[in-house]
Amino acid sequence: MLIKNILALMRYIQDYNFKDKKALIRVDFNVPLNANLAITDSTRIDKTLPTILQVLKDGGSAILISHLGRPKKGYTDSLSLKHLIPYLSNKLNTQVSFASDCIGIEAITKAQNLKPGEVLLLENLRFQEAEEQGEAAFAQQLAALGDVYINDAFGAAHREHASTYQITHYIKDRLAGYLLQEEINNANKLLKHIKRPFTVIIGGTKIGDKLQAVEALLGKLDNLLIGGGVANTFQQALGGKVGKSITEPDQHGVALNILYQAIEKGINLVLPTDVVIADQWSDRARIDTVLSDAVPENWMALDIGPHAQELFQDIIQKSKTILWTGPIGAFEFPSFSQGTQATIAAVAKATQKGAFSLIGGGDSATAVAQFGYTNRVSYISTGGGALLAYLANPNLPVIKVLGN
Ligand code: ADP
Ligand code: MG
Repeated sequence: MLIKNILALMRYIQDYNFKDKKALIRVDFNVPLNANLAITDSTRIDKTLPTILQVLKDGGSAILISHLGRPKKGYTDSLSLKHLIPYLSNKLNTQVSFASDCIGIEAITKAQNLKPGEVLLLENLRFQEAEEQGEAAFAQQLAALGDVYINDAFGAAHREHASTYQITHYIKDRLAGYLLQEEINNANKLLKHIKRPFTVIIGGTKIGDKLQAVEALLGKLDNLLIGGGVANTFQQALGGKVGKSITEPDQHGVALNILYQAIEKGINLVLPTDVVIADQWSDRARIDTVLSDAVPENWMALDIGPHAQELFQDIIQKSKTILWTGPIGAFEFPSFSQGTQATIAAVAKATQKGAFSLIGGGDSATAVAQFGYTNRVSYISTGGGALLAYLANPNLPVIKVLGN
C-alpha cells in the first residue's frame, strides 16, 4: 500500500515539457577521484545522463547541482566539481559552463543567461554549510535559479538537505528523474515480493549509517551476514579483542540490540568465525589468519577468513533474495580481497539460479565492477545508505515531496 501511494503521488519528467524551461537538477555526482583528480568510476554521472538529455531534447536548459565528498570546512580544491567538466562536456556533447559557487551573483548571472540546450554546473553544494543544515534561505536562493526542479540523486535521498528537501518548498514543479525512478522500481521489486530465504549482507566502514537501517529491516529478513568494519564493531561490542581494527564504538548499543533482536526473531545472524589480519594498512603488511575475537594488539582485521568465506557462500547460494552493501574486506588490496570476491561469486551464482540480488554502496559497486560481475547481479544501486534507508522505510521525505 505504502509503496503504491508514493509512486502514484510522484510526478515524472516524462510527463513534463521542458521547452524554454530552466531545469534545476539535483544530481548525485559524488564520484571517486584519484590523486590526479581523474574520475575512477563514472557510473553515477553516466546514469543521470538520460535525465539531462531529456531536458535538452525538449528545448530546455539544465542547471546541475550536486555534492562531492565530505568537505570539512568550505572550499577544498580536490572536492571541486570543476574537475568533472571535461568528462561531462564530452558525454553531453556540449561545453558545460561552471559557476564557482552554487549561490551568489555568478550563479545567478550564468543561470539567467542560459539558453535552451545549454548546461550549467554549479560548485559543490557542501562547500556551503547551509546545505547539510538544510537552511531555508539557502534553499530559497537555489530554488530561484530554475523554473522547475528535478531530483535524480537517489544516493542522497535519505538526507533532508537544502538541495534535496527544503528547496522543494520554494519551487512549484518538482519531478522525479529517470535514475530516481529506476532506483525506486528496483528497490520496490525487492520489497513487494520477498522470496525466501532473504539474506542481507553488510560490510564496509560507514557503520552507523548501515546499522540503523538494518535494525529497521530486521522484521523482514532470514539471514544477516556481517563482514568488514561492521563485523569488528560487533566483535568489540561482545567483548572480543579486535586490536586496532576499524570499529565504531558508539554503535555498540545498536549492534547489541541487533544481536538480541536477531535471537528473538529467529534470524540467522552470522559473524565471521575467522579473519585475515595485517600489521599495517598496506599490501606489504605481514599477514595472518586468526579467530575473529582474538586479533592481537597492533594488528587489524582486514578481511574475513577462509572458514567464514565458506559459511557466507553456503548461505548466499541458498538465498532467493539478496541485499548487499559494504565490502567484506579491504578489497582494494589483493591480499584482503578474497572475502569480497567469494561473496560476489556466490551472489552471482544465486542470481543465475533465479534469486533477485540488489547491491548498493559506491565502494561495493566498484568492487563488483572490478571483479567482473557487473552483469551477473540483478541491479546495482547508486545508493548505499539511501538504499538501506528506503528499504527500511520507503516513506522518505525527500521522495515524498516530489509532485504534490
Ligand atoms: P560502500 O561505499 O559500499 O557503502 P563503505 O564506504 O561503507 O562501503 O566502505 C568501503 C570501504 O570499506 C572500502 O574502502 C574497504 O577498504 C573498507 N573495508 C572493508 N572491510 C574493512 C576492514 N575490515 N577494515 C578496514 N576497512 C575495511
Ligand atoms: Mg563508500
